[in-house]
Amino acid sequence: MNWISNYVRPKINSLFSRREVPENLWKKCPECGSMLFHRELSDNLNVCTSCDHHMQLTPRERFTALFDGGIFTEVKVPEPVADPLQFRDQKRYPDRLKAAQRATGEHEAMLVAEGEMGRTPVVAAAQDFSFIGGSMSMYVGNAFIAGAERAVKLKRPYIVFSAAGGARMQEGILALMQMPRTTVAIQMLKEAGLPYIVVLTHPTTGGVTASYAMLGDIHIAEPNALIGFAGTRVIEQTIREQLPEGFQRAEYLLDHGMLDRVTHRKKMKEELVSLCRMLMKMEPPVVGDLPAPPSEPELPAPAQPEPSQAAAGDEAAPMEEQKK
Ligand SMILES: [Zn+2]
Repeated sequence: MNWISNYVRPKINSLFSRREVPENLWKKCPECGSMLFHRELSDNLNVCTSCDHHMQLTPRERFTALFDGGIFTEVKVPEPVADPLQFRDQKRYPDRLKAAQRATGEHEAMLVAEGEMGRTPVVAAAQDFSFIGGSMSMYVGNAFIAGAERAVKLKRPYIVFSAAGGARMQEGILALMQMPRTTVAIQMLKEAGLPYIVVLTHPTTGGVTASYAMLGDIHIAEPNALIGFAGTRVIEQTIREQLPEGFQRAEYLLDHGMLDRVTHRKKMKEELVSLCRMLMKMEPPVVGDLPAPPSEPELPAPAQPEPSQAAAGDEAAPMEEQKK
């Protein structure tokens, strides 16, 4: 009995608990309930392979997928005053921030980056819904403005991926003040004649919808994204009417003129690149073309008049060197 309970059982338990680990490799789709293998899911940009549901994507994952070769440079964001209201709910606000930083591995709820998408230079910012609900804090305001200023300085389009539950409660009115601040930053882009494109992802609500997420030159949304100011239940209780099906979803908003496009995540890069190039008056994007077509007809030409061409080439080389 002792041998069984002291040795065999722990051994069996440890064997089974070790086997539980691979369960984390599977993720359940919240929409259709299919179990999805994590690698397959991340290869598919967190879009469910069976029902096409667009799941949450962190800013870093998004940028890795959008920027050429997954390479981008983070834009520095000025640090705001920490915990200005000394706010405390069930937890102290600094503790809540630290917990979110540990859980996400990110500093705050917005990431700003510069780089090239389809050989098109852009500045982009993305909100992280997993960081305290992607809430708009003073840092998020600073990040948005830092991105806009960078775009103006480099004369590049500014693309923002919104995802938020609203303003950050723990910063009170200081969080709400980010609404006018970001609006001024957008005006700065407009005065510089630079495109400002918003990609609304699930969910974009509250103060973010009421400010920078709805002030773009072009509004694109991911399929079935929830976009609105107040929640459906609050509106229903206020107007005492039942709201139509699909209310506040991307497709509904597209039908009612609030959005310009609803675009699948896999087509997003292509669409953003062609929009940016069109608005920046650049050449249309090169899609799947073989490199350097003009060099091919030039190559066979010197093969016919060999001696004179070679001589000319020899003379031309030192001339160029002298000029330098
Ligand atoms: Zn699904």
